[in-house]
Amino acid sequence: MTLSGRAPHNLKVSPPATDARQLLEEAVRLGNDTLRRLAPQADSTGEFPTESVGHVRDAGLLGLGVPTEFGGAGGTPGQFATMVETLSQADGSLGMIYIMHFAAAKSIEGSILSNRDMLLREIASGSHLSTLAASEQGTRSQFWLPVSRLEPSADGFTVNASKSWVTSAHNADSFVATAQSPAADSPMNSLCFLARPKADGVTVGASFDGLGLRSNDAAPIELRGYAVAAGDLICEPGTGFQHLLGTVLPWFLVGTAAHSIGLCRSAVHLVEQHLGNSKFAHDGSRLADLPNLRGQLARMSTTTDAASALLGRAVAAMEGGDATATLLLLEARLFAVEAAVEVTDRALRCGGGAAFSKRVPLERVFRDSLAGRIMAPTTDHLEDLIGKARLGMDLF
Ligand SMILES: Cc1cc2nc3c(=O)[nH]c(=O)nc-3n(C[C@H](O)[C@H](O)[C@H](O)COP(=O)(O)OP(=O)(O)OC[C@H]3O[C@@H](n4cnc5c(N)ncnc54)[C@H](O)[C@@H]3O)c2cc1C
Repeated sequence: MTLSGRAPHNLKVSPPATDARQLLEEAVRLGNDTLRRLAPQADSTGEFPTESVGHVRDAGLLGLGVPTEFGGAGGTPGQFATMVETLSQADGSLGMIYIMHFAAAKSIEGSILSNRDMLLREIASGSHLSTLAASEQGTRSQFWLPVSRLEPSADGFTVNASKSWVTSAHNADSFVATAQSPAADSPMNSLCFLARPKADGVTVGASFDGLGLRSNDAAPIELRGYAVAAGDLICEPGTGFQHLLGTVLPWFLVGTAAHSIGLCRSAVHLVEQHLGNSKFAHDGSRLADLPNLRGQLARMSTTTDAASALLGRAVAAMEGGDATATLLLLEARLFAVEAAVEVTDRALRCGGGAAFSKRVPLERVFRDSLAGRIMAPTTDHLEDLIGKARLGMDLF
């Protein structure tokens, strides 16, 4: 696949949705208060942020992106980016839970699932949390090359799979999984299906005691003889790769870029407060009076705004159905992920011992920013894909 092809079919301009705007206002209110307050405790225990997700559910935020005909709020890629940025600024783990849910919901929306409409109504009502299960032990970060394969059975199919990392693993109601098609002769001949973490044949392992995004409940999931009915197929056998790349990946790139930008904004805000409030006793001057620290802040905010501008350009291309959208989205994610590591590293320097001792909660934002680099498509994948696209080479 090259990037010169037509835009994926579902990337139409969504009309501005009043309801989506209301949800964004609600997210800002929740983020500035409740979600920000709850984040440190969830990070320290590494437990799923049940209370925060409850607020997000109750406020209807899980229904952003679901078409209004199913009771959702609709919403454009730009509105999704704003939502993720707002939530991630308050709590990086919560932001990632939201991205995985939203991307899975987009997969369900673009699916051939027999109960698709009912699922979309459940998602819109906030009663259904979903997630993605693409990475496998054997695929490592190259999630588009599944090792697992569906085998035909009397009632449909069965599958054995070792999904290596699944966000919200113990708390999701469903997950969008990948596997090779029956009798596939290559991992590129794949499909997607919907599975239930609490069904027979599913074992959810212990959540990872991670460096960052500690409370997103990422855990391995084992499928052993798991029964997949024909109605559980998200796409036809042989079209899994296209479904992932055309329907899921664009939203995932928007979300993860916005996540990194949210972390940047959190760091900028915390440093502004710290520099403004911290004084030297001998003359009453503030850290803000030091030009080197103002310079660090200037670099932080400029890099953040650059990342935001690049994402804005990519989102505009996606909303306009522009053929360059995918390349711009890849660039936006690459820039934003690396920007977040740079910005939060600068923030730690400005925060001095206060940040190092966790009195100023910058180190959590720094740790959270590191996940972006190794979450597929990783920084290495992004560089490779963008370089190939620039050279007109096949991407995969
Ligand atoms: C917090 C968190 C949550 C996650 N949630 C989910 C989820 O909900 N669903 C899901 O499916 N996955 C999820 N993942 C998995 C994630 O997307 C990656 O698959 C996983 O982090 C890769 O780990 P690995 O050890 O297999 O990486 P490896 O593939 O071993 O990567 C090691 C290094 O090799 C590099 N590398 C690998 N392949 C290439 C290549 N082709 N070219 C150049 N360099 C390469 C990588 O960039 C990396 O630097 C999550 C990961 C994290 C950290």
